[in-house]
Amino acid sequence: MYLNHVKKKVIIVSNRLPVSVAKIKESIKIRQSAGGLTTGVGALFKSMENSVWIGWPGISSEKAGSSKAEIVAELAKLRYRPVFLKKNAVENFYYGFCNRTIWPLFHYFTRYTEYNRKQYESFCKVNELFAETVFEIADKDDIIWVHDYHLMLLPALIKKRWANATVGFFLHIPFPAYEIFRLLPQRREILEGILGADLIGFHTYDYANYFLDAVRRITGLENRLGQLLVKNRVAKVDSYPMGIDYELFNGTAKKSAIKNEIEKIRKRTEGLKIILSIDRLDYTKGIPERLQCYELFLEKYPEFREKVVLIMIVVPSRVQLKYYQLMKNDIEKYVGRINGKYGTLRWNPIHYLYRSIPFNLLVALYNIADVALVTPLRDGMNLVAKEYIASKTNNTGVLICSETAGASKETGESLIVNPNNINEVADAIKKALILDEEDKKEPIGIIKKRLKRFNIYRWGDEFLNDLNEVKRYQSYMRAKRITDIAKAKLIKEYSLSEKALLLLDYDGTLVQLKEKPYLATPDKELIILLKSLTNQEDNTVVIVSGRDKNTLENWFGKLNVCLIAEHGAFVKEKGEWEKDPRIDDSWKQEVLPVLERYADRTAGSFIEEKEFSLAWHYRLSDSKLGSLRARELKSALYSLVGNLGLSTISGNKVVEIKYSFVNKGSAALRFIENKNWDFILAVGDDATDEDLFDALPEQAYSIKIGYDATKAVYSLESYREFRQLLEELSKAKPHKIGA
Ligand code: UDP
Repeated sequence: MYLNHVKKKVIIVSNRLPVSVAKIKESIKIRQSAGGLTTGVGALFKSMENSVWIGWPGISSEKAGSSKAEIVAELAKLRYRPVFLKKNAVENFYYGFCNRTIWPLFHYFTRYTEYNRKQYESFCKVNELFAETVFEIADKDDIIWVHDYHLMLLPALIKKRWANATVGFFLHIPFPAYEIFRLLPQRREILEGILGADLIGFHTYDYANYFLDAVRRITGLENRLGQLLVKNRVAKVDSYPMGIDYELFNGTAKKSAIKNEIEKIRKRTEGLKIILSIDRLDYTKGIPERLQCYELFLEKYPEFREKVVLIMIVVPSRVQLKYYQLMKNDIEKYVGRINGKYGTLRWNPIHYLYRSIPFNLLVALYNIADVALVTPLRDGMNLVAKEYIASKTNNTGVLICSETAGASKETGESLIVNPNNINEVADAIKKALILDEEDKKEPIGIIKKRLKRFNIYRWGDEFLNDLNEVKRYQSYMRAKRITDIAKAKLIKEYSLSEKALLLLDYDGTLVQLKEKPYLATPDKELIILLKSLTNQEDNTVVIVSGRDKNTLENWFGKLNVCLIAEHGAFVKEKGEWEKDPRIDDSWKQEVLPVLERYADRTAGSFIEEKEFSLAWHYRLSDSKLGSLRARELKSALYSLVGNLGLSTISGNKVVEIKYSFVNKGSAALRFIENKNWDFILAVGDDATDEDLFDALPEQAYSIKIGYDATKAVYSLESYREFRQLLEELSKAKPHKIGA
């Protein structure tokens, strides 16, 4: 069995518990609820013995009234912990922001999407309420696995209080393309909420990519193979197609109880081929559109009349919402029309059931149906498609599946259709009905094997395993974080040193990174700090920067610091600037026109011309376009820069071109080799500082700002923390007399 390695307690959090509580004449009734999340995660939950599931029990706080304690006690027996929501919250949060805004928008139904501030506020409040319940019942080292679109703010709320909590998030519905997602007024808040999680999962690769795309364009955060650095913490985004409890469906289909059900169905449908359609009532499922396809099929291929029956099961859902009511009426009218138009005294083209059906009947229908017609207009996954295949015992039957359902990615051997192309669907029905029995077996067999391997347990296992891995990676990164003991040792050694060298990067290390480089001027606090350090006995402070020499001179010219500009093209050691004698700027005339072409083609980008390097900045461009153009630019310059002895380096939203041999490491070497230092500290925050760390002797201290991969021995979270360390260093040694 899977999940054995997960020793920790798992707290599942979703909007709904897998059961609904009703109060009938003061007595409590607990019923199973329907839906993909419930069936899928429900099976997994049962196999995780020490887990707890937090969710709304489907009854309002007012209605539960004095029975709350009893409900809590009853649900505790099932390891469920209810979150009671007031009627008002159910209306504004669940029927409001969740089902009037997010649900239609994420399924591309922009015409049904409503934007309502009050409902969003309720969404925030309910997410906070869920967070409170998590804090109440979880321990800090539990695994907290948040599910679905109702709780997209919860991961960040948990992290706000418990920065090191292990939080996974899985979205069970599609994540839409950027052009759709950007319509949401609270798009940034939603992304930031989800990004509180350490692992973020989607059903398909497309959804994961759309999410990463939205993150890049809205927050500017770039990813490396799905890994993001969110406030110094690595988070991972990936696809985990949700499986089903294969053995439950396949095993049940083989049971004798099912044989009886099948017999009953056979008697009522004798001589007819069965086409099966099962969905929750929802406009995303394309039920009226499916009826249209079926009608066209009967019209186009009259030879099938009285030879087939469509068994259409619609499970009631969200009936309080206007669109759902209207759709139910439409479906029922449409079914009546088709039955009236094509039906005969002996035959009804459609058997329509508007209700939830018992599990055995469900499996019997799956097992016996000749065709499953799964044609949602949009569906995150669609488990019905998978359950149909898993319930086949003799591998006969044909699945017709929408390309817009996540399940189509794993059922590619079936008949995949565009649900909006009614001709294609009508033809697919015919094709499925006339297919040779032998030809049906191979696709079902292949898909079955896949579903058996990637079942719901494997899904849970892979997600939790990866979550574990992300946490391990985070702690590996944090392990570099300088400890209090190491910090005390560093300060002590510094205080005793007679010849100390401090090599300090500027942007991101001494000051915070800013949108526009000219905004990152040194503040008063920093100048005082640098003055204080340079006034200590036998200290050499070097600012090692990629910035041009005039800027550095303006900012620090009056201080007693040494300066390295343009990554080493210029050095100011003894009061005078020196240029590296090996370099010139003759190459610029060849490179500049290429950069200008890119600056013209990429709105918001600009060229920074330094004396011996050129930089193309794209921080203010659309981030997707910017990074695409950056890659293009590097490849366009590839042979040109090679021939000229130059190299392109990628910094933070900047591509810089300079001589290959000019780098912070080689520039710092002239200082490092200058004296017999008894203390060296080098600090930096980005890729260009790695050259600096590389050039250090073994006994030197090196600190990276941020928890990214680095050659530095230690790391600190932010420039703020580093300033605190500098503050301590500035007090650790006597100051020069008169200073
Ligand atoms: N289902 C159910 N009761 C029924 C009919 C179906 O619980 O009367 C289950 C079905 O077995 C499937 C789920 O409802 O597991 C529907 O999941 P799907 O992913 O297809 O759609 P969702 O409801 O999540 O949008």
